[in-house]
Amino acid sequence: MVINMAANASEAELQHVIERVKECGFQPHVTRGTERAIVAAVGSGGSRSALEALKAAPGVEDVVPIAHPFKLVSRQTRGERSCVNVGNVCIGGAEAVVIAGPCSVESRDQILSTAKAVRAAGATMLRGGAYKPRTSPYDFQGLGLEALQLLRDAREETGLPIVTEVMSTEDIPLISEYADMLQVGARNMQNFALLRQLARADRPILLKRGPSANVKEWLLAAEYLLAGGNSNVVLCERGIKTFETEMRNTLDLAAVALVRELSHLPVIVDPSHGTGKRELIAPASRAALAIGADGLIIEVHPCPERALSDGAQSLNLDEFAKMMGSLTAPIRRVASAMAVAVA
Ligand code: PEP
Ligand code: MN
Repeated sequence: MVINMAANASEAELQHVIERVKECGFQPHVTRGTERAIVAAVGSGGSRSALEALKAAPGVEDVVPIAHPFKLVSRQTRGERSCVNVGNVCIGGAEAVVIAGPCSVESRDQILSTAKAVRAAGATMLRGGAYKPRTSPYDFQGLGLEALQLLRDAREETGLPIVTEVMSTEDIPLISEYADMLQVGARNMQNFALLRQLARADRPILLKRGPSANVKEWLLAAEYLLAGGNSNVVLCERGIKTFETEMRNTLDLAAVALVRELSHLPVIVDPSHGTGKRELIAPASRAALAIGADGLIIEVHPCPERALSDGAQSLNLDEFAKMMGSLTAPIRRVASAMAVAVA
């Protein structure tokens, strides 16, 4: 249930509601908006009718059930959109954010040259895999700690905050020492043990959508993070499995608009994994921004043909700069029926 406080409710009235929610057997999660406070009462086993009676408490405007199984990520529990800060970058604010970098960190030269080039082209965060989830055990698995050290050096040189994937609970403390944001990869979206630990981590989380996950499952995965205490979560649409075989995945851009309806969390788009084709990155990026994405995450490599992972979907440094330029071009003008009628 959500308890909407009146715009003129006092702090004492809010505190009273928080206490009553606890007495009724629920956990209160308070959002203090610019206009009013909202108290979300979550948990199971408490008395719903006792909560509903809070409609009569002073300072309460309304008590309404939360319509969806996900509670804390729901837009209902927060009047305004969330902004997640990663270093000096705000994801979910007025401007869309571009995160760029190689699929995997491969060498000092590779990550430093990429970091400098993507920064010069306008990216404000650096990506790079240190621990890689690979379909085959014989494929390159990432440089691990060495890659984390190289990412740290790249941040020192460029000032770009770092996002990198964490695959296992035991790696969380080490990766948190080096990275500004922790990525949960698509294959781990429903690794609930990992989500529970990341809920206690002192880092924002980039939660990729599972290749076969529907929107409800994706938002419930995010709910694990918020319910466990980490509300700095950014969602990432990276394509899902469909019957289509010409692309690596099917980039589900309508889900981005839907998620923005259902949730207050920022959502970004990964057109690299979403399409698997470098020639589709620019048009898919433009479409993602047009539909309301809060940002993009794009794979860039100084020499894609030599990349140890995901070369086919990586832009080279010049292609990335060109793509960034294309993002500001206006979308196609729509013909006006009125103009045709009078012509
Ligand atoms: C990646 O970002 O390189 C990656 C492996 O992504 P995903 O988990 O979306 O496949
Ligand atoms: Mn990749």
